[in-house]
Amino acid sequence: MIVAGIDAGGTSWKLIAAKSPGDILARTTIPTTTPTETISAAAGWIRKLRSEGCPIEALGLASFGPIDRNPKSKTYGLIGATPKPGWTGANPHQMLEDAAGLPCILDTDVNGALLAETMWGAGKDLSSVAYITVGAGIGGAATVAGNLVGAPEHAEFGHIKPARTDDDRQVFAGSCPYHGDCIEGLASATAINARWGLSPEQLPDDHEAWPIVADALAQLSVSIFYLIAPQRIILGGGVMKRAGLIDKIQARFVERTNGYRVRPEADHADAYIVAPGLGGDAGVLGGLYLALNAARTGQT
Ligand code: ZN
Repeated sequence: MIVAGIDAGGTSWKLIAAKSPGDILARTTIPTTTPTETISAAAGWIRKLRSEGCPIEALGLASFGPIDRNPKSKTYGLIGATPKPGWTGANPHQMLEDAAGLPCILDTDVNGALLAETMWGAGKDLSSVAYITVGAGIGGAATVAGNLVGAPEHAEFGHIKPARTDDDRQVFAGSCPYHGDCIEGLASATAINARWGLSPEQLPDDHEAWPIVADALAQLSVSIFYLIAPQRIILGGGVMKRAGLIDKIQARFVERTNGYRVRPEADHADAYIVAPGLGGDAGVLGGLYLALNAARTGQT
């Protein structure tokens, strides 16, 4: 069966047509502009492939949010309040189904990536896994004994408030429009830009930003560790591509947990807090997983 997996991000939409992660037939990237423009381009790509003989049967949409992922909700598929212009109140799921003329399975981008990592990546064969993505925003999701935390809604791990020093609080109030210095307001690419005036890619390895970002993400990992005790924590997203950042997070995790353990797996922080096994494709393979799993379980 061939399906399309879609990673609908706030900056771009990535699409693949595939049978499995190892059998990707086509891929493309579309900039995220307005809902109508972006979704028309995505549906156009799918329609073109089908007209050329690639029999795509279903779509899996792993979307940025917040988005209503509860199929029983009256507002199913709607994007909630987002700083992305034009997207608040849009329903990319319905628009895509209509424009492509195919059934579409929806979940959040982070849930999608988590499920793909659990099926094929760094969380393979584990039933309790947390996934954090650090990009323009910070999203988090987890399974506990195979069930998604927050279902049928979704959790928002990135908006927990970390502890800070008084000195640091005086320097920067945080960039989250809702909470100021939540984890997203301190460690996302948006926060880095707001505080230092440069994108994460522009900062040198020894910049003062990295220990601060690492500590915020370590605190998020500690919170997840003590709240739900997953078997592994996976950290992905554009900001995590910085070499050495994950080592700093692991070191701070060890310091902050200070030997108080809830799982023996966490004794080895370098195997407990890890990069995605699927690399930069975790998001789009999340979309692939959603469509394939729905077909397997008879949802489409
Ligand atoms: Zn926040």
